[in-house]
Order: sequence, then structure tokens, then C-alpha cells
Amino acid sequence: MDLAGFTEEQLTVREAVSQVCSQFPSSYWQECDQEERDPKEFHAALAKDGWLGIALPEELGGSGLGISEATMMMQTITQSGAGMAGAQSIHANVYATQPLAKFGTKEQIEKLIPNIINGTWRTCFGVTEPNTGLDTLRLKTSATKNLKDSTYLVSGQKIWITCAQVASVMILLARTTPIEETHKPTEGLSMFAINLDRSNPGLELKKIKKMGGRAVDANEVFFDNYEIPADTLVGKENDGFKIILHGMNAERCLLAGEALGLGYAALEKASLYAKERQVFGRPIGKNQAIAHPLADAYMRLEAAKLATYHAARMYDASKTDSSISFQAVGTACNSAKYLAAEAAYTACERAVMTHGGMGYAVEYDVERWLRECFVPRIAPVSREMILNYISEKSREMVDTEDQTKSPADSAAGDDGGHSGAAKGTTAKDKECQYCHQAFTSSSLGRHLDQYLFKKKPDGIHDVEEIRRIRSSITRRQARTSTKHESPDVGTRKGQNESPSGSAHEPPARPREGPRFLFNTPSWHATGVINNLSESTSQDVANSSRVPVSHSPGSLDYTGRSSKTKDADTVRALELALQEVLDNIKAATNTTRPRLSPFEFDVQAETFPSLVLKLLPPPPALFATQPFATSTSFPLEPPNAGQVELVRHALKAHIDKWRAEQLGISQTTNQAGSRTKNNHVNDPQMIHATAQQHDEISSRHLDLAYQNWMMLSLEVKKHTWQLELTRAFVRESEKRKDLEAQLNRVQQEAEKLRAQNERLSSCQWPREFALFPPDTLPLPREAARELDALDNSYTSPESSRWDYDQLVAKWKRVVMHDKSMGRVGASSYRGIDESTPESTIRPKLNAPGAENHSEFPSFGYVAPTTTTSSNIPPTQHTSPYDAAQQSTYNTHQATKRQRLMNGSEKDVGSVAENDHYRSSPQLANGHATGWSPASVQSLLATSHPPSTSVPANSNRYGPS
Ligand SMILES: Cc1cc2nc3c(=O)[nH]c(=O)nc-3n(C[C@H](O)[C@H](O)[C@H](O)COP(=O)(O)OP(=O)(O)OC[C@H]3O[C@@H](n4cnc5c(N)ncnc54)[C@H](O)[C@@H]3O)c2cc1C
Repeated sequence: MDLAGFTEEQLTVREAVSQVCSQFPSSYWQECDQEERDPKEFHAALAKDGWLGIALPEELGGSGLGISEATMMMQTITQSGAGMAGAQSIHANVYATQPLAKFGTKEQIEKLIPNIINGTWRTCFGVTEPNTGLDTLRLKTSATKNLKDSTYLVSGQKIWITCAQVASVMILLARTTPIEETHKPTEGLSMFAINLDRSNPGLELKKIKKMGGRAVDANEVFFDNYEIPADTLVGKENDGFKIILHGMNAERCLLAGEALGLGYAALEKASLYAKERQVFGRPIGKNQAIAHPLADAYMRLEAAKLATYHAARMYDASKTDSSISFQAVGTACNSAKYLAAEAAYTACERAVMTHGGMGYAVEYDVERWLRECFVPRIAPVSREMILNYISEKSREMVDTEDQTKSPADSAAGDDGGHSGAAKGTTAKDKECQYCHQAFTSSSLGRHLDQYLFKKKPDGIHDVEEIRRIRSSITRRQARTSTKHESPDVGTRKGQNESPSGSAHEPPARPREGPRFLFNTPSWHATGVINNLSESTSQDVANSSRVPVSHSPGSLDYTGRSSKTKDADTVRALELALQEVLDNIKAATNTTRPRLSPFEFDVQAETFPSLVLKLLPPPPALFATQPFATSTSFPLEPPNAGQVELVRHALKAHIDKWRAEQLGISQTTNQAGSRTKNNHVNDPQMIHATAQQHDEISSRHLDLAYQNWMMLSLEVKKHTWQLELTRAFVRESEKRKDLEAQLNRVQQEAEKLRAQNERLSSCQWPREFALFPPDTLPLPREAARELDALDNSYTSPESSRWDYDQLVAKWKRVVMHDKSMGRVGASSYRGIDESTPESTIRPKLNAPGAENHSEFPSFGYVAPTTTTSSNIPPTQHTSPYDAAQQSTYNTHQATKRQRLMNGSEKDVGSVAENDHYRSSPQLANGHATGWSPASVQSLLATSHPPSTSVPANSNRYGPS
């Protein structure tokens, strides 16, 4: 064993006790074991040097050391070869005296303690009964007070009482008030320090033949109106359970130490044998089949050693440090005993196997130790009960009402009156791990749930962790239902009721229906476990009578209990699919350049249709200028006045297209990607194509105008009306598209709101409440680079393309707000009717627009003057409105790109590449309020306003 880390006192104890033990070789213990002879010489040797009072105060004649040192003493004893027998011969003298020293009267202490320390009297500990076993609180042995002569009459039976044959004193736990007459089972028990006077009537001892540790006796003890003096009562009558608990954590540490010693001794023997024993011409230890199990056993022992001395240290420190709770000490001591016992068992078993046949021989000791190593696994509390206790205490592992009433309360929970052991069903035996308030098991659940449903985050309660813990509990009611019940309530109800209301109906079978094979997303909203193995979820379903459907590798959403949730799933899938399609489309558009600056075939258009497509309509009826302006299309058939306007519009379109294509070309070249359309991205080619379009469109305009002028006035009027009607239909269709876009924007807004809510409910680590972390602003360039790196998630060609992530994301959106889609785009203030008209008017003639030329600046929308907040409701059907909407969309997209899987780089490139840039007005800082060209481009149905904003443009563009 590695001795690093032990204190000076512990090492001194180890050395000194080793010296005593060295007087008792293996042969001594073999004989004692074989002959079932009490090792009284050993007991006397230790008593002589005062070791029995190691953990008792100096004023009582003890050494004044702690349980840490006492544990080391016990480990040294077992490790010396004495095994459990050696330890058990003094064990009760060390720990059973702890409550006596604390709660005994002066007379009791003065009479008993010195005699126990010097070895005159030996002690035994009488708790276990044959009929109640680990359920200590139900023990039957009674001590009835005889008021006449101040004595108690003890009746009942104890079992497995170690050293009763040689002990003079028994620390006895007996019931002084019948359990039926107490408020709690923990009441009515009393502790006595009685003389075991075998000459007195009413006392009988019967030795039990046993498997190991035969040197020390274990007994059945029968009391039949055995009379004991009243002054043998230790502490108050009926308070015995609390008093006796005082020694139990100490006892667990001692036993852990004993187990460790046994394990190390066995391992040492095994290693030695593995080195010496030659088979097949070499030491058996050269075989990994021998060496590895021993290595594994060593590591287990070392780990258990850490746990053991940590627990002992906590136990000692808790006497002076009030911040160490009884709960924590109880958990540490029980854990240590469990781990050490299991590690010892592993080591002993492997030691026997390493010895082969000789492992079975008494001579090699390991068979004795293997027989003995079961004791720390069984006593004083079995490993099963420790697991009950720890799982109850840790809560994350088990959280059911049944478990909280488990007999762990009776046996394993030992925390000096704070443990479940001392609690009835309503005892506040739980502690909030965050605020350390005491609760009953169910009120703790409710307390934690408050932070999920009602209370605001307080920086102490980790909401995310609580959610994780609580979400592993099967709940009958989904969180999203209107009435929030705590999971505890839900669980309780779930245990008694079936969803159909009948208490005895078997769990409902999952409905048949479509199965979605999107891996197994954990949908916390339901509160139903969906990440367990089939059998486990079945168990949960059975125990809670909540239908749980789950098949490995797939999630059967149809098994969920509410139709609403099914709808949610379908909705989430639909949204996820939509997003996937949008992204694919956007990605495709990014790599596919637009070959023409126009959405329509210019050469197929007549002069009036060009006028209607390229010029904005007259301002709305209720605007200050209800009539056509010099830049809008006329109400009468167009004429020469519109030719130059249309020519400028055509040119603006071409310029804008050229700027976009150059931007794309630059981006593509920077990214180093080579697409098959790369020749189209050649800047020279772009310039040449733009030039060509310029010439062709200009020539076509002249021809179309000439053709138009050849028509009679009547025909012109009819044709113009026809074109107006067509334009109206076109606008109606666009409006429909915009409405669809609006719907999606609303959904997106809801998603962002839900995200925002979720983020604001996030808890910081508790330390941050005291020392908030500094937030460093991320430089824009760095952010862009990061986003660019993350682009691979958004590319359908990428292997990192993650559909499950996408679905999970949309599920969160749907889950967080059932009102999705119902709430209007409230953040979109463009429909605020209260907006003063002066602020929403196009600013063509506004002061400050002095540089604005005769023609509107086709090709861009100035964000400063046409923000989403200044769009009148009356313009919703007009292209202006659409422009505002698109502007709004662009801004929204910027946010969305950051929050979702897009790239701000792309968004940033909107500003760099799109029509904003290409406008001379923007460069001059003079912005016009609107532009027909920008409207056209933003409303483009097949191409996004900027191909470098793929997700955005396609997502909200008509599909
Ligand atoms: C060598 C030896 C020395 C001992 N010395 C003493 C002594 O000096 N003084 C004294 O008072 N006692 C002594 N004991 C008794 C010892 O403390 C008990 O044997 C031990 O507490 C187990 O109790 P039991 O035997 O009654 O087991 P039972 O209570 O009968 O339990 C039997 C099995 O069922 C399991 N079990 C029971 N309930 C549950 C549950 N709810 N969940 C899961 N598993 C459960 C237990 O873990 C155990 O495995 C000694 C025992 C031994 C073997």
C-alpha cells in the first residue's frame, strides 16, 4: 500500500500497532481460527499499550486521537495477518464506547471507560435481532421499567452478538416504549450499558457456528426478564436510537479500514506467490491472466483507501466544522465501507485463485481471509442497504416514494439524527443540494420544481441541472400542459391511476402509427424517460402506469400520451425539413450565379409592361401626393416621359447585378472553391455580360417604344389597361407570397423569443454570483471567422450535416411555445398604424435629399429612412411594403444566421455586395426612401436579393 498522504499521527499509529501485531504471527491466528479460541492475548496486548482508547478523550484515559487514526489502527491489525478476527476482538471496544463517552453519566463514564480501555472489561454490541434484521427500528427486545425498585426487565432476543461470550459489558438497544405508542419508529428505543452477568437469571448465550472469524465468538443472546439496574440507561429514555447512531458512522470507517487491511494482506500474499510459483518453466505472475486481476484488485483497494480516509477525515472534522453536514458524513462513511468491502472481497478471491490449490490450504491464510472478508460486506449494514441509502441520498439515481421509505432509513442512514434512519415518513431527511434546506423527499421535489416552473433563477439553484435530474422522472403530466404539477405529484398519481383514470388498469399500449426514425432525441417536455433501455423504460412504465413507448434505435413518437405532443413532433419535423430544403436551395444558389440581371425576359416585354415592371406605382391614395409622380408609372398610357426613367431602371438593374456577381466572384475566389461555373465568375466576363445586357436592353427599349408610338391612342389605352390588370394580378400573387413569408417570420420571431427565454433562464455557476466573469467582446472579424468555420454544418455536402440536430432544434422551438404562429410579428413595427405619416413618406423631396437626382436611385433601399418601423399599413400591397419587408427580413436574417446555423460572414456580405453598396447615394450618405428597382429585386421570386445570403433569401423568398 502506498503510504503517501497519510498524516504523521496515522503513520505513527501504523508503526506502533504493527509492532504489537508482529508479536502475533499467522500461525497464532490460524490456530485461534481452527480452535475457535478467543485471541485474548492479542486483546490484552493492545489494551496494555492503551490502543483501545485511541479515539476516546484524554481526560477519560484515551489517546484523544480521531477516527482517522483509529481506522489506520484497524487496517494495520487486519493487514498484519490477524484478519477480521483480530479486528473484531477489539472492534466494539473502540466504536461502541463513543456514544457512551458522549452521553453517559459521569458515574457511568468513570466506572466503564477506564476498565474498557485497560482491557479489564470487554464490550459487545447488542442490536441485531433475528426477527427484524436490518429493520432496526422494529426491534422487539423490550426493557420494561420496574418503578418499585428502579430496575428494568429485559426480554427478547439478540443475534450475531460478537464477543458476547467474553464481554462483561453489552451496549444494548432495547425498546422502552412500544412502537404503537410512539409518534415515530425512531422514538421509544433506549440505550443501556449493561453487565452481562451470566449467573443472573434470564440471560442465556448460545454460540453460533460460523464461516469465518472463528476466533471471535458470535452469539444468540436470550433475555427473559433479565433484570438490569436503571442507572445502566445511557442518555435519556426513548432517545436510544439517536444516541446509538453516534457510533455508527465511526464503525463504518473502522470496518472500511479493516476491509482494506484484509485486501492488502491478501494481495501481498498473492503477489509473493505469483512471483515464486513456477509453472511451465516461469513464474505464474508472468501470465497476464494472473497479473491483471491482481493489478485490478490493487487499484480497487487504492481507490477504496482514498474513500475510506476521506470519510474518516470528514467524520473527525465534522465535530468541529459545522459546515460538514451529517448527511455528507453519512454518505461518505457508507460509501467508504461499501467500496472497501467490495475491494477486499475482490482481492481475497483473486488471492485464493492465484494460489491455485494452495489457496485452499489453511497454511497460506488466504482461504481464512476470503471467509472473513464477507463480514464487512454484511455487517453492520449490508451492501444492498448501503446502495439503497446512497441512491436515496444522491436522488439523481432513484427518486420514488417507495425508495424513500426503504429500510435504508433503519440501517444504512447513519448521520446522527439527520439521516433517513432516524426519520419517519414525514421526516425532513432530505437536503437541497443547492441551498441546503431540509425537506421531506416529496417536498424537496416540489422545491426543486419551483425553479422549473415558477421561481426565477436565483443563481444558486442550477436550473439546467435540476431540469436534467427531474426530467429523468416519469411524469404523468407534460410540462407544457396548462396545469403544472410537480413531478412528485405526477409520479404519485401516476402510480395509482392509469391515464384512463382506472387505478388498476394496465399501462396503455402505445398507439399504432407512423414511426419517425430520427435517432432518439430526448424530448424533455414530456418528462417521460425516453433514453432508457427497453427493459428499464418498461419498468418505469409499469411502476408509474404511464405509457412509455420506446424501441432501441428509434423513437416512437406515437407512444406519447397526448395528441398535442404528436402534433408538436410533426410540426417540428415539418419545420426541420423546411429548413433543410431552404438550406439546400440556398447553398445551390450560392454556387450558381444568376445569368441575367432581370427576372424576366426584357426582350419579350412591350413598352407598357416594361414601364409597369420597372417603375414604381403612384403613391397611395391617402398619401399627400395621391397622383403619379415624375418617377412613378403614369395613370394614363405611358409616353416619351417614361422612356428615360425605364432606361435608368434597366441600367440600375444591370449595375446591381454586376456588383452582386463581382461580390460572389470575390467570395468564391477567396474561399478557393472552384465550381463548374467558374468561368461565369470571371470579373471580366461579368463586366462584358453587363455591358451586353446594357446594350441589348437599351436597344430593345427604343424599339419597343417606337412600336408603342405606332399604336393608335385607343389601342394604347386598351393595352395599358390590360397591362395594369396584369400588374395587379402579379402584385396580388406577390402579396400572397409575402404573407407566407410573414408567417414564417413570425415563427422565427417566436423561436428567437423562446431561445431568449431559455437563455435568460440559464443559470450561471454559483461562483459567478460572487465573482461574475468578465465578458470580452468578440471582435467582428474573429466572429466571422468562427462562423465561417462553422459553415460546414450548413452545407448539405458536408459530412457534419446534422439532421438530428436540426430536428432537435425545432423541437425546442415547438416545445417552448405552443402559441407559435399565432402571435403576430409584433417586433415588426412596420404595421404600427400609429406611426406618423410624415415619418413614413418616401423622402424623395425631403430636405437633405438635395443630391438626389431627377431619377430615383434605382438599386438600393436606404435603411435609415425606410426602416421597418415606418411603413404605413396602407402600403402593404405595394412594392414599397415588400421592400420594407425584405429589409426587415434581411435584418432578421442577420440575427438568425448568428443564432442558427448560418454565417454572419454571409450576412455581412449583404452589406458589402448588394445594392446598398452599388448606390452612389449611399456612398454620399444620402439615402432615398425607396426604389422600385430594389423592390423588384427584393421581391424576386427565383433569386434572392443577395445570393450571398442563401439561407435568408431562400428561406423567406417565395419557393
Ligand atoms: C460475523 C458477524 C458479526 C456480527 N456482529 C454483530 C454484533 O456484534 N452486534 C450486532 O448487533 N450485530 C452483529 N451482526 C449482525 C449484522 O449486523 C447483521 O447480520 C446485518 O446487519 C444484516 O442483518 P440480517 O442478518 O438480519 O439480514 P436481513 O435483514 O435478514 O437481510 C437479509 C438480506 O436481505 C437484504 N435486504 C433486506 N432488506 C432489504 C432491502 N430493503 N433492500 C435490499 N436488500 C435487502 C440484506 O441486504 C441481506 O442481504 C454480525 C453479523 C455477522 C455476520
